[in-house]
Amino acid sequence: MLEIGDKRVFVTGGASGIGRAIIEALLAKGAKVLFCDVNADAGKGLETELRKQYGADRVIFAQCDVTNAQQLEDVFQKAVSSFGGLDVCVNNAGILDERIWETMLAINTTAQIRGCKLALDHMRRDKGGRGGVIINVASMAGIVAAHYHPVYTASKHAVVGFSLSWATHPKMGEMGVRWGCLCPGPVDTKLITVLEEGQAENLPVYRHVLDTNKVPPESAAQAFIRLLEDDESNGGLMTVVAGREQGHYRKRQL
Ligand code: NAD
Repeated sequence: MLEIGDKRVFVTGGASGIGRAIIEALLAKGAKVLFCDVNADAGKGLETELRKQYGADRVIFAQCDVTNAQQLEDVFQKAVSSFGGLDVCVNNAGILDERIWETMLAINTTAQIRGCKLALDHMRRDKGGRGGVIINVASMAGIVAAHYHPVYTASKHAVVGFSLSWATHPKMGEMGVRWGCLCPGPVDTKLITVLEEGQAENLPVYRHVLDTNKVPPESAAQAFIRLLEDDESNGGLMTVVAGREQGHYRKRQL
């Protein structure tokens, strides 16, 4: 089992929801975390709060819009230089709004893939790195269809597909990088709240699915921790579905 205590972690979109719960779970296990978010007020506030509990050397916030390639690279490099290297990269930032579908693709897909590329370049053992773990927060919509949300479904399938291609690369053993996708069902966060207030209003069936399945972000974070700790999954992509219907944790190797 992977020892999280000494790991240096980079998390995108960490100021709220699942990202925030993941950061808190990582810090509780002793990791060091640099997280970024487009929301500077929420990010700074969380940094202040967490530093009181865990110390200033273990948690750093940096503002970044992940759709800006230069900003994303800058915060990634800041994480590397602050901690002297990175062991885990968590591409989590995401939105769910079909009305701004191009922006959604830019955040959920392009930026997550860019984050993977930065992490892979840094971690690859065959290129002088020290290995590591890349986990993308996809969604159940990355494995099955989320009805009424075709572009969201496409954005998450793309991330799972990208991760699967690398995870099953013939030379992945030499690269020393493990890949995982966290695929939550409905989680009680701002993303779902916005959905409930807006698009789901006229969709009673969808609302019923949300109401009966929604889990707290801490539940998704616990599934994330189990996925990260499970280092016996080399040679494939480990996907974990987190949600009430799935008993909170069901893993599947692709
Ligand atoms: P959330 O809205 O609570 O958190 C998302 C965070 O990402 C916010 O802090 C937001 O400011 C940040 N963000 C948005 N755009 C950004 C950008 N351009 N640059 C940097 N940061 C940005 O939502 P959440 O539910 O915690 O979502 C986290 C991830 O989990 C997303 O990838 C989402 O698709 C995925 N997910 C959520 C659910 C759910 O039901 N909530 C289910 C499956 C997957």
